[in-house]
Amino acid sequence: MSLLEVSNLRVTLRTARGPVEALREVSFAIDRGETVGLIGESGSGKSITALALMGLLPDGAGVEGSIRLGGRELVGLAERDWCRLRGDRIGMVFQEPMTALNPLHPIGRQIAESLRLHRGAGAAAARAEALRLLERVQLPQAARRLDAYPHQLSGGQRQRVVIAIALACGPDLLVADEPTTALDVTIQREVLDLIAELVREDGMGLLLISHDLGVMARTVQRLLVMYGGIVAESGPTAAVFEHLAHPYTRGLFAARPRIGLARGTRLATIPGRVPELAEMPVGCPFAERCELVIDACRAGLPAAVALGAGHEARCLRVQP
Ligand code: ADP
Ligand code: MG
Repeated sequence: MSLLEVSNLRVTLRTARGPVEALREVSFAIDRGETVGLIGESGSGKSITALALMGLLPDGAGVEGSIRLGGRELVGLAERDWCRLRGDRIGMVFQEPMTALNPLHPIGRQIAESLRLHRGAGAAAARAEALRLLERVQLPQAARRLDAYPHQLSGGQRQRVVIAIALACGPDLLVADEPTTALDVTIQREVLDLIAELVREDGMGLLLISHDLGVMARTVQRLLVMYGGIVAESGPTAAVFEHLAHPYTRGLFAARPRIGLARGTRLATIPGRVPELAEMPVGCPFAERCELVIDACRAGLPAAVALGAGHEARCLRVQP
């Protein structure tokens, strides 16, 4: 049994124009100590996937299928139980650290709060542990900064604090949604290397969402390529990079060297755009932009074709 098992996840969002499907037939697993990357253009459904794992979908969202963490079903969990789980078994790091921190409270207290809430730690023990965590995320002058407020830190330092909060209770799974997008390029790599190092040390599972192909190549063992709310291709990172099996994956990597991806290599631009949810076709969501499209692609969602050990692509044109 994997640490996280997502099967046939379907997420429906409520909009002014009625319900729309944001995720369809999304299935993947993350083992303990395994690092998995989620890539895809903006609007592909990456953040909706992350939010579903944390029970943070917008009000009125419908969730079908299964999300199991350590064997426990999370779909249908009461809000009270989600609160116990978040920050305890699942740590999360989002794009913008300022929104994750309370501007009115010193950072040490914000880390300690999680320990007191989930672990019932006393005030002194929680403060000592907060210091240890700030040192662990390599915040310079951690002891002096325990009583600093978020606005007194740089963006990169704030994201280190968010990571410290995410790690406070020793979660089984860390979900990081574009954790460095809001940071300066020079800081991005440091923060990602820090996350990778902490995940390795603690043996957590990691779901890392990033646009940066170079980061993915260095950081994650497996890749999920998402498009139009489906997982178009998934497999060991090296196999996905080598075969580029799905036409969408090929598009993402187009005009990029296959190996030795430079720092900050971003996804290439494919002609056309990601469909709006309200106009999502019943068939392959990539059909409109695909050079290899045939009529059958529009008839229904293509089944996943096995390509090798743990490697598959949802495409009728892929060569097994
Ligand atoms: P990504 O993180 O891959 O850029 P998202 O998961 O944020 O993409 O969004 C996937 C799709 O869901 C997009 O079409 C987006 O417009 C839509 N979406 C996101 N949040 C909502 C919402 N609260 N209500 C309606 N549609 C939404
Ligand atoms: Mg997003």
